[in-house]
Amino acid sequence: RDSLDIEIRVMPYSDDQFLLVARDVTQLKQLENLRRDFVANVSHELKTPLTVLQGYLEMLDEPQHTPPAMTAKAVEQMQLQSERMKNLVDQLLQLSRMETPSHDVFDQVVEMPALIGELRAEAEKLATDKALQLTFDIEPINVYGKRDLLRSAMQNLITNAIRYIQDEGHVRVTWRRVRDEVEFSVEDNGPGIDGEHLPRLTERFYRVDADRNSENGGTGLGLSIVKQALEHHNSHLEVNSKPGAGSRFWFRLSAGLIQNRK
Ligand code: ADP
Repeated sequence: RDSLDIEIRVMPYSDDQFLLVARDVTQLKQLENLRRDFVANVSHELKTPLTVLQGYLEMLDEPQHTPPAMTAKAVEQMQLQSERMKNLVDQLLQLSRMETPSHDVFDQVVEMPALIGELRAEAEKLATDKALQLTFDIEPINVYGKRDLLRSAMQNLITNAIRYIQDEGHVRVTWRRVRDEVEFSVEDNGPGIDGEHLPRLTERFYRVDADRNSENGGTGLGLSIVKQALEHHNSHLEVNSKPGAGSRFWFRLSAGLIQNRK
């Protein structure tokens, strides 16, 4: 290992002898650090919109000094910031619900073409402000799994593809058989991601460019939700990306989860 955290205790053994007990606490320390970072991140993410809200509230508290145009802007900003806090809390709750490892027996059939159809309608709404070409190629394949978790995984991938494209571009979503598995994929020709970031993308609160993305309303939790949702289906997220060329995010579900597999 690169480093080791050792806890040493000195205990009396006899009148003139001591016992040194050394315990490897590396893993405990790492967990503790993760927990501390997590709390610090949550606090920071909540504090920013709260500070903005507070500022506008103070301004509205003095209506005689606030021109009507400013009042409208303040209300709009307050709605935006409240929305942002609500998203963050929703995502945190989702993560905490998924945290308990489960030995899932899937008896629920998820009708994927219908589910992806719902996501398509949402995506079209989200994309209205941009000159985006959205393509969906969906094969009629259902799977056994958890609908909510699969929905959330696919929704996050589609939303990211749309959000990170600046003004125009295309996003292609596919759901298809690949040999004996089934694959969900989202491909975009957006900004792409530098290779050094790829291994860390699914870490909680990890953002490639914190400034740019906080403007985008991102929390840095989306891909960690995807990761956890996929773990419940014994699957994992894969990504291929090149700065300037775009990204492809995909996951596969094993043959055992496919309904009516021939
Ligand atoms: P966020 O809420 O910030 O989008 P995510 O966990 O969903 O957080 O994504 C982590 C980071 O990965 C994002 O901040 C963004 O920098 C990068 N990213 C994710 N998807 C894409 C994409 N399709 N194109 C470019 N960058 C992306």
